[in-house]
Amino acid sequence: MKPPSLLHMSAPCREDFDIPFHQIGDSKLEFSIALVAGVHGNELNGVFVLSRLADYLHGVEAGHIPGLRLNGRVLIVPAVNVLGLNTRMRLWPFDKTDINRMFPGYYLGETTQRIAAAVLEATKSAPIRLDLHSGNLDFEELPHVRLYEPTEAERAKAEWFGFSSIVESRIEKILTVSLIQAWKELGGENFILRAGQAGNLQLPHCERMFQAILSFLERNEILGGKPRAEIEEDQHYFAPDKHFRVITEKAGFFVSKLEVGAWLRAGDLIGYLYDGFTGKVREEMHAPVGGLLLGLRRQPLVFEGDLIARIQCP
Ligand SMILES: [Zn+2]
Repeated sequence: MKPPSLLHMSAPCREDFDIPFHQIGDSKLEFSIALVAGVHGNELNGVFVLSRLADYLHGVEAGHIPGLRLNGRVLIVPAVNVLGLNTRMRLWPFDKTDINRMFPGYYLGETTQRIAAAVLEATKSAPIRLDLHSGNLDFEELPHVRLYEPTEAERAKAEWFGFSSIVESRIEKILTVSLIQAWKELGGENFILRAGQAGNLQLPHCERMFQAILSFLERNEILGGKPRAEIEEDQHYFAPDKHFRVITEKAGFFVSKLEVGAWLRAGDLIGYLYDGFTGKVREEMHAPVGGLLLGLRRQPLVFEGDLIARIQCP
């Protein structure tokens, strides 16, 4: 059976295409939650996690997973930028626009404006909304939940994912065009989950994100039945403006033996910057502050001024 489609589109010289989605649970109910990934087509972790989650929840609905039941109705869009996903591109392939700069969208506008409008229309009735992202092609991020000028309910529920870090950010007042901003305008409870690096899958991060979403669904009583094992992670809440960006002052090969999620003291070594010809160390990169290594550059070729690491200070 063909899945339902968020938006049907035609193309100049190929067959039409759709943005398919899953609706899982009792069709008489309103959606309890909406989960979206792949707004950026090369952020594969989120797409993979949501497609696996859809399979799992369809299994729960069909009674294939003993002891679990679905109490609510779930909307899942694994890949908004469906053409970008197929061509390994972050942006919409035809006109190279960023769908996450097109909200709230416009039904009579260009394709990406229509996609944005369709995503917003499909998700607006859900009281809880999740948007999944990764770092970019060069940068790996520790799985975490990100809040934007949160309500008390969002702050409280962010803990339910069980991630070690909850990061609070301010809403950009000038660039009011992202999905999270459009959702915030609608009210409800809105979360961004970020994990790993674009362009590839990092299975441990995917597994962590999958478990986090299951925990969240259970705590919201959307998923019911046997209680699952609690995930034991120390939780840390990071207020806005408590993150530090480590920038390189020279070009070269950046190498690091660290893993995202490491706790650093001020002055700890992050990595070395080597000269690509002589092989000599040009710069030692040290942590300017103590804190959690939330993100780390994985693309070794760097230029002056490139971002090397993100450190969150408790
Ligand atoms: Zn993204």
